[in-house]
Amino acid sequence: MQTIVRTERYGYGAVSTAAPVRPRPACADEDPELFFPIGNTGPALLQSEEAKAVCRLRCPLMESCLQGALDRNESGVWGGTDEGDRRRIKRRAARRRTVA
Ligand code: SF4
Repeated sequence: MQTIVRTERYGYGAVSTAAPVRPRPACADEDPELFFPIGNTGPALLQSEEAKAVCRLRCPLMESCLQGALDRNESGVWGGTDEGDRRRIKRRAARRRTVA
């Protein structure tokens, strides 16, 4: 949508008043419980894999979501990873730091 406005410098002109389109997280369309499996065996493992698939296959925010989860030590599935995946990512990063 455009609106005609008057600016001091350019006189009258059209400016866009449409809200910027923001990427929508894929989990917004899912049951939030899916991302918080209880336990890490049997059905909880399947649930975790299903949640990770939502992230990995459909979410445009995966990288920033993963970084946020790493920074905040979140529990549950975030950014296509579960807690175990994120622990491994952190261990690998720590090892790389000690080697470098
Ligand atoms: S990557 Fe993050 S925002 Fe995207 S679906 Fe997964 S949990 Fe939701």
